[in-house]
Amino acid sequence: MSVVSQALHQSSSSHCQPDEQMRGIFDAMDQSFDELSQCRHALHEHPQVAYEEEFASDLIAKKLDEWHIEYERGWAATGIVATITGQANSSRKTIGLRADFDALEVEEKTSLPYASRSQGKMHACGHDGHTATLLAAAKYLSETRNFDGTVKLIFQPAEEVADSGAAKMIEEGLLQSHPMDAIYGVHNWPSLQVGKVAMRTGGMLASVDRFDVTIRGRGGHGAMPHLTVDPVIVATYIVSQIQSIISRELSPSSPAVISVTNINGGTGAYSVIPEYVKFSGTIRALDQKTREYVIRRIEEICNLIASSHSATATCYFAGENDPTVNDARCVAFCSAVASEVVGDHNVITDYDPCMGGEDFGVFLKHIPGAFVFLGQATSDPQSPHNRSLHNDRYDFNDELIKIGGAYFSRLVERSMPLASAAE
Ligand SMILES: [Zn+2]
Ligand SMILES: [Zn+2]
Repeated sequence: MSVVSQALHQSSSSHCQPDEQMRGIFDAMDQSFDELSQCRHALHEHPQVAYEEEFASDLIAKKLDEWHIEYERGWAATGIVATITGQANSSRKTIGLRADFDALEVEEKTSLPYASRSQGKMHACGHDGHTATLLAAAKYLSETRNFDGTVKLIFQPAEEVADSGAAKMIEEGLLQSHPMDAIYGVHNWPSLQVGKVAMRTGGMLASVDRFDVTIRGRGGHGAMPHLTVDPVIVATYIVSQIQSIISRELSPSSPAVISVTNINGGTGAYSVIPEYVKFSGTIRALDQKTREYVIRRIEEICNLIASSHSATATCYFAGENDPTVNDARCVAFCSAVASEVVGDHNVITDYDPCMGGEDFGVFLKHIPGAFVFLGQATSDPQSPHNRSLHNDRYDFNDELIKIGGAYFSRLVERSMPLASAAE
């Protein structure tokens, strides 16, 4: 038994003795660990980016075949939806569990024996591990079926791109073909120690929108600005003014971020006032209302400041991700389940939100659920498990296959208990 497994057994037993079924889950996770960590390493060696994840899709299908789990391929190109029905199905309830499996355009520098074999591509966000984790739960759930209802296992492509795999699966009719009462997801989290599980009610991760603004004035001689409409001046006013949306218009309890990340204007000549200036950036918010407010105010401020200088502003906004907003009841349920897996002293229910984006938010727009972070850092600060997500020396911590696999499995058993287990 690994150190983490032992710690998990002890941590849960120190608070409340794990019941027989929970011990069964821990044992199953230990038994399938070699197989699933090999799967994870194979995925890691063969990273593919959005909608090209044929290797992952084939590997998942092969495992589901081995375990006699029925599934459908072709959702959003490479996505897979598998179905496991419990020993009973009188609850008529269906729970969704989701894992993503796309990689990033990053050149790996880990020197691990299973490092990426594809130049310029890497599993630097741990989606290889999320997939292995959901497979661990799939194996256990299909072998035991200790639940009364149905589980949908959603293996999703293209989490990392604006044209997101979750949104595409929903557009293709996922929620009509496979209706779910609740949906759950996890992400490994390098800033938390392994064994910790963190969540919060409400916004867990932010919405992501990008914006492009063009300020058009009238170019001319740099020595005669009174004969021009200087778009550089207008752009600089706007870039500083839009920050006051955050600091003076939003409640401090509704965090949002506006970052102007590019400004381009001029020809390089020192004495030419350009015709136009372009700037662009990113907007983050933790709820839909704040998100819409910030977008509307950026556009208003651009237009008002531009017109006050006889210039024009053209604004373009594009949404990339909805905020990931956790349902309060699902968070309470997930924290109870996580306590059984890692001990209640290892569960954080008021964790700080992250202003990064995650396309799991689009599922939560339609179905109640919760997305939680699984700590993966070790005591060695140099460990690849402690590197930040998207870093070229990052690596997923395989211990999470057991922790996350046990968490997913217990979620299903607890949300749809068999009559005998409920008594
Ligand atoms: Zn990522
Ligand atoms: Zn990710």
